[in-house]
Amino acid sequence: MNQIAIVRDPLYLKHSNGPMHPEGPERLLTIDRMLSGFPFRDQLVDIPPRDATFAELERIHEQSYIRRIEKTRESSFTVLDPDTSATSDSYAAAIRAAGGAIEAAEAVLSGRFPAAFAFVRPPGHHAEAGRAMGFCLFNNVAIAAAYALEAHSLKRVLIADWDVHHGNGTMHSFYHTDEVLYFSVHQYPHYPGTGRIDEIGGGAGRGFTVNVPLAGGQGDEDYLYVFREVLLPIAREYAPELILVSAGFDTHLNDPLAGMGMTGGAYGRLTALLQELAGGCCPGRIALTLEGGYDRTALSDGVASVLIRLIHGHEGARAGGQAEPESPAGTGAHVQADTRQVVQEVRRVLAPFWRGL
Ligand SMILES: [Zn+2]
Repeated sequence: MNQIAIVRDPLYLKHSNGPMHPEGPERLLTIDRMLSGFPFRDQLVDIPPRDATFAELERIHEQSYIRRIEKTRESSFTVLDPDTSATSDSYAAAIRAAGGAIEAAEAVLSGRFPAAFAFVRPPGHHAEAGRAMGFCLFNNVAIAAAYALEAHSLKRVLIADWDVHHGNGTMHSFYHTDEVLYFSVHQYPHYPGTGRIDEIGGGAGRGFTVNVPLAGGQGDEDYLYVFREVLLPIAREYAPELILVSAGFDTHLNDPLAGMGMTGGAYGRLTALLQELAGGCCPGRIALTLEGGYDRTALSDGVASVLIRLIHGHEGARAGGQAEPESPAGTGAHVQADTRQVVQEVRRVLAPFWRGL
């Protein structure tokens, strides 16, 4: 069994978007409660986060924007966007959330752990260079990727974003570079409106942005199919030195903000595919960062299924007889016709850039 690093901090509870908002501190409290009764608790090692430095934030965000968010410390409540706000503690929470994602990446880059999961908030993947949106202030996963490129001189980082919403901020951060391969499977059309198939990157980054927009109603087999037919062939060829995951759990069938149909155990099955990929290119080296997920039971079940898979490892999971999907090639009868159609179109558009397609 593997030991897995986890990142938590009381500061993450202090950020609020106001009462009755779906993205609230109780999301992390639910995960804490699940962890306190988690059967493999001894395999989880709490590692302390730190604050991201100004220079680390600046690799992704405009100086003037960072200063604007910093200034929210002076008011008890600042509305930044129709659905994104800050309290006087939110800046502190946000720079530590970014630092938490960095420390999760560092935990695996240093070789201390094969995998890490940062349970942070505010989430990050909608945050643009100069704009807070979609409950996000700083783009945690993008800041962690930029850190890995800079501090460890990496040349190839994969960001796999399985949150139900498209990670517009992350995509834009690395749209023109081949040093980050951004892969997103998301509901479309849906918030935030980006993530079309033909958004494939620009300049040196052409072919290094991969969007799989699904109409809604897709379930476990559809997601596994998308991973097998799009992500894995591209990522094997890319051979990332680090795998970062924007781990949202709002693809669950009970999520109140979206219309997908995944079940809790499927997150572990997606994780197993990433472990299989990591085993071939960057032993271990998977760092996940929490994004969305607004049904509390779905969130804690999903996180538990990911952690169980990380702890047991790909080989162990296989020996346990649970990792492999029922349909071995991911081409089983449960994959919807429109999912196949989208996958075919994504492969057609990206085929000029990837031999494996
Ligand atoms: Zn989301």
